[in-house]
Amino acid sequence: RQAYQARELDEATRHWLEEDARYFLHQALSTPVMNVLSRTEGAYIYDLQGRRYLDLHGNGVHNAGFHNPQVVEAVQRQLAEGLAFTPRRFTNLPAIQLAKRLVEVTPEGLSRVLFCPGGSQAIEMAVMLAKQVTGRWKTISFWDAYHGTGFQAAALGGMEHFTGGNGPMVPGSFYVDFPDYYRNPWGWDDPARVDEECLRQLHTVLKRNPDVAALIGEPISSTPTIPSRHYWEEAQRLCREHGTFLIFDEVIEGFGRTGKLFACEHFVTPDVLVLGKSLGGGLLPFAGIVTREEHNVLGHRSIGHFTHEKNPLACAAGLAELDYIAQYRLVENAATLGDYLIDQLRALQETYPLIGNVAGVGFHLGVDLVKDRRTKERATDEAERIMLFCLERGLAFKIIDGSVITMRPSLVLTRDDADFIVETLRAAFAWIG
Ligand code: PMP
Repeated sequence: RQAYQARELDEATRHWLEEDARYFLHQALSTPVMNVLSRTEGAYIYDLQGRRYLDLHGNGVHNAGFHNPQVVEAVQRQLAEGLAFTPRRFTNLPAIQLAKRLVEVTPEGLSRVLFCPGGSQAIEMAVMLAKQVTGRWKTISFWDAYHGTGFQAAALGGMEHFTGGNGPMVPGSFYVDFPDYYRNPWGWDDPARVDEECLRQLHTVLKRNPDVAALIGEPISSTPTIPSRHYWEEAQRLCREHGTFLIFDEVIEGFGRTGKLFACEHFVTPDVLVLGKSLGGGLLPFAGIVTREEHNVLGHRSIGHFTHEKNPLACAAGLAELDYIAQYRLVENAATLGDYLIDQLRALQETYPLIGNVAGVGFHLGVDLVKDRRTKERATDEAERIMLFCLERGLAFKIIDGSVITMRPSLVLTRDDADFIVETLRAAFAWIG
């Protein structure tokens, strides 16, 4: 990384990086940073030198493209109206319209909405709703998931970076294995066997704990691993049998990323759908939950009481984002170009033994690099070198779990962009040998 910075970045950028390191509180994962950005557009980000990178980091805020002109205009129009905030006892048109639109576009059965400023808070609202409605207090989530920061969301994820050193997190947090057909603790290749074991774990925890309020997970894991439909159908059946909510975290996977408007459409409709990131149109921090009619029973209790709950600017952005996604058929684009990318990456896999696994759906893709296809030992050094090689050539992505190149581009990606991804990776694999 230092070599990249020494070779690629100018004096001014290095100065700003030093200033960044000087003034921000250092913490895992967000410091030190690699470069300084000046602007974003569509699927691309630009640094201070004006160099362009196709961004695959996929924070998921840019599904309709970074700085989408239609979304920008909608926010500017709302600003010009003179309404950028409403005190809680009042409402506003963009908020009502966005809530109504979400009820229309999410799967049948989801009909009540609550907004908040960020994804971690939306996760917390979803869990609190499950606790209030069921009268129970425990949760089940998946090992090594990420659901955000703060005590509740971090407790669900269970990652040391976010939980260590805080003392007890949230009591009653249980974890089970996510069905991963490529890497699982048992070294099994048979998906049906993996499903069976994962469902057995879930069933065991549910049986032993009659007070589990919710099972919470991403429909597809972040690396990504795509569970069978059977897995989620059975998990939902077990949850229903035990009176437990099923909560889907679609903070990353919502708004078309997986080739459906919502990832749950591949599987089952949950009790609560958690949305974030692109909900604010990539311009404003915004998130929320959508749940079933029968859960509208909070009465005198409150699970979300945020200053910016119905932020008119964020709601205007979210509406414009949804309009743009529909108008330009971006969900269909993610589905078809995603298939194309998977085919191209699988073709690369035939040439380069370093590629152990290609997984994903839509624009939610992962390429797992291995030293040996049989042992699946992670090729962590190679992954880091390939990441830097690509960065120098204008392709930016992150590595998850040390060895998985993850690709979550904007849904405005074109066929030329897809070819650029494949050709840059091909050059990287040829270079590393
Ligand atoms: N859930 C998932 C799956 C996420 O990826 C994130 C953020 N990366 C969150 C929840 C939390 O969202 P926020 O950062 O807006 O709090």
